Amino acid sequence: MNSLDFSDLIDMDDDLANTIVTRADASAGCEQPATRAAGASAPALLARAPFPDISPALPAFGPSFEVGGALPDIQFVTVDNGRFYAHRGLLRYVSSDAFGGLLAGRDESIHVPEASAIFAIALHVAYGLSCAHLTNITLETIESAVNVLSKYGIPPQSFAAPNMPLFQLILSQASYYPIDAYALAAHYGFQDLAVAVSSHLLAYDLSGLTDELCVKMGAVHIKLLFDLHQTRRNALKNIVMNPPKMHQPHLACGTREQQDLTLAWAFAAAEMAWNAPSSTSTYMMQSTFERAATDISCGECRTMLKTRIQEAMEEWSAVPRTI
Ligand SMILES: [Zn+2]
Repeated sequence: MNSLDFSDLIDMDDDLANTIVTRADASAGCEQPATRAAGASAPALLARAPFPDISPALPAFGPSFEVGGALPDIQFVTVDNGRFYAHRGLLRYVSSDAFGGLLAGRDESIHVPEASAIFAIALHVAYGLSCAHLTNITLETIESAVNVLSKYGIPPQSFAAPNMPLFQLILSQASYYPIDAYALAAHYGFQDLAVAVSSHLLAYDLSGLTDELCVKMGAVHIKLLFDLHQTRRNALKNIVMNPPKMHQPHLACGTREQQDLTLAWAFAAAEMAWNAPSSTSTYMMQSTFERAATDISCGECRTMLKTRIQEAMEEWSAVPRTI
């Protein structure tokens, strides 16, 4: 089935499409069940050449938007009069209910109640196309697009795997709105995405969680977030509680003098434990301990300090940064 082409699937019934896709998967060495529900395997299909062969140079969803040699055969008109040209066969394949029943007939132009900005995201996701070029994207429009996918029988969870457009789209918002992106991912069951977004929440003040956010993300993901912070706090305490080792005492630097380094380390450790411990970076750890020990003049003490800082940074790097 190496010559499988998107045009082969135009107007093809689901059973036949599943059969072809299963064979294509088998030829690609993929382990797949013998049969699959329509739409459930679509993302894997979309991600695998030669289906669909979408040229990024072409304007997506214009009248000449060609997929695997097939031109659009249906036009959607949004509530704000945006026009999107698409492919009936592809949408029937990724949707479990013929795109909310809209594709059950032979209408070539269909009016939908969504706004262009939202419908555009939904279509890009359904086609496996990057949304990076779309403008006016917010978490609200993304969430609305996710709801649109569900409304039209396209399971959003199947399109939120890592490296898929929806995953990247939501993750791109995580730097700016981490807790909202996390709640969105948790709410819709995008677990891989929730894990990825959680790395942006290490500095988040959990006392700022609102009732609305808690309800949205659910008890499981609240607990996962609290556990992440607790784990990192405890790990940091354990790491910084171990000061540098002492060197062999001598006349220039005996046991008492070496306590200056231990004391400097203790002050630095307390500073880190006080200031957002979950989000402490290895660079912050290094600079804090080095700054605290600037008055240490003994070369051997400084060697011990350098060794312990390196160990501490390695230990801290190994602590999980995600739920
Ligand atoms: Zn010393």
